[in-house]
Amino acid sequence: MSTRSKPETQYLELRSRLQEIRDLEAAASVLQWDRATYMPTGGAIARGRQIAMLRQIAHEKLTDPALHDLLEDLKDYERLLPYNSIEASLLRVARRDSQRAVRIPSDFVVKLSQHQTESYMAWAKAKPEGDFERVRPFLEKTLELSQQWASFFPESECIADPLIAREDEGVTTRMLKQLFGELRSKLVPIVDALAERPQLDNSLLSQEFEEEMQLGFCHKTLERIGYDFERGRLDRTPHPFTARFSIDDVRLTTRIDTHDLSESVFSSLHEMGHALYEQGIDPALEATPLAAGASGGMHESQARLWENFVGRSRAFWECFFPWLQGTFLRQLGQVSVNEFYAAVNKVIRSPIRTSADEVTYNLHVIIRFDLELEMLEGRLAVKDLPDAWNERYRQDLGVVPPNPQSGVLQDVHWYMGTIGGQFQSYTLGNLIAAQLFETALKIHPEIPVDIERGNFETLHRWLKRNVYRHGRKFTADELVLKVSGKPLYVDPFVRYIRNKFGHLYEMDWI
Ligand code: ZN
Repeated sequence: MSTRSKPETQYLELRSRLQEIRDLEAAASVLQWDRATYMPTGGAIARGRQIAMLRQIAHEKLTDPALHDLLEDLKDYERLLPYNSIEASLLRVARRDSQRAVRIPSDFVVKLSQHQTESYMAWAKAKPEGDFERVRPFLEKTLELSQQWASFFPESECIADPLIAREDEGVTTRMLKQLFGELRSKLVPIVDALAERPQLDNSLLSQEFEEEMQLGFCHKTLERIGYDFERGRLDRTPHPFTARFSIDDVRLTTRIDTHDLSESVFSSLHEMGHALYEQGIDPALEATPLAAGASGGMHESQARLWENFVGRSRAFWECFFPWLQGTFLRQLGQVSVNEFYAAVNKVIRSPIRTSADEVTYNLHVIIRFDLELEMLEGRLAVKDLPDAWNERYRQDLGVVPPNPQSGVLQDVHWYMGTIGGQFQSYTLGNLIAAQLFETALKIHPEIPVDIERGNFETLHRWLKRNVYRHGRKFTADELVLKVSGKPLYVDPFVRYIRNKFGHLYEMDWI
């Protein structure tokens, strides 16, 4: 006979059910990673079916009434546990996941997923031709399905709230309107002021750089910073991403453009940030729903922190530029570290989000956030979206996209996902990164000097201790408050931008 009390037995049963779900999800991720890296194109149809089947089984297990009953039975047990214990956190997070999953009828999940596949295929054809009309009916249907998705959560204050909560738990439209409105009002004048100054030169990045040598440089850089290649790998894909199969197998990919050195360097650093986060989670959380990043915004913050706050800093290039120069002596032999640092920080009023600099990037995101909210709330019809898009670009960035490819068709998000809840994580990530990095520098002012000397341990260890190891034990809001002592606000990001770009563009506000 077991000596365990009933709740303990039930907890173990719950944990084992959750482990099955995690394993199914991880198996689906391996199939997806393979599809994006090495699968021959002929495998596409069968692979799509295999991934969908694993995801469906995982969803069924998560919505199984037996799992729900276990979570109900364990409520009293949970109350006796400390909030930050693994057990209490696991129960809290599993309950949240299961409560959300059961709201969405499974036939709706199938309907949405089928529509997303068709919409993506239409977009892939329409984008090169710049033909918005071709995808318009699909986007109208996506809007309808997104509104329907939101309607499964009738208690929400705003229609976008449940869509946002999928990625960023606890974040509401009301909070984002306030944060993003304030950020926009501070960034637009900065962008205007920088445009008046003599412009930085980034032409040195557009020479011919050999593919293998770029990959070699990225590999060595990641290793030097602390990405563990014994528990990961680096491959090439057209769209860079990070895939986690377990805490000890977190892989990333990068994109290499032989005519643009910044592409491979910064996409590698970005994905490495995501990967360091996953590799740094406490091993005790393995195979539970806690073994993941706290939220979309928190994950993005770690990618942005390494890509920009570290990777585009002067200290970083003091350390790595001699090495890069040695790798590409023909192209960079005559370039100084100052010139290189300026080149990777050039601010451009461009219509394209993905290649945007640190100053303009959030304006691209805020435009999308505002437009998707207008569509969800029925204030903007899909047919009027291209004009509304162009008008906002003119107002906020002083540039009108020359064609729909570089306008309303540029991002895949709305065409293979939902409208709403898609873009906020990027800007939340930048704000969180600024607030955490500012805190790290207060506690360890030696970080820039350490980085200059090639020592990334001080910062990496601080992030592991304060952010990574917790996984999903705390929400992003709880973590930001716990680490920095304040709720999320825009000032650290604005301070960082004004200081860094004020120096680079020799502004008189410095
Ligand atoms: Zn990212």
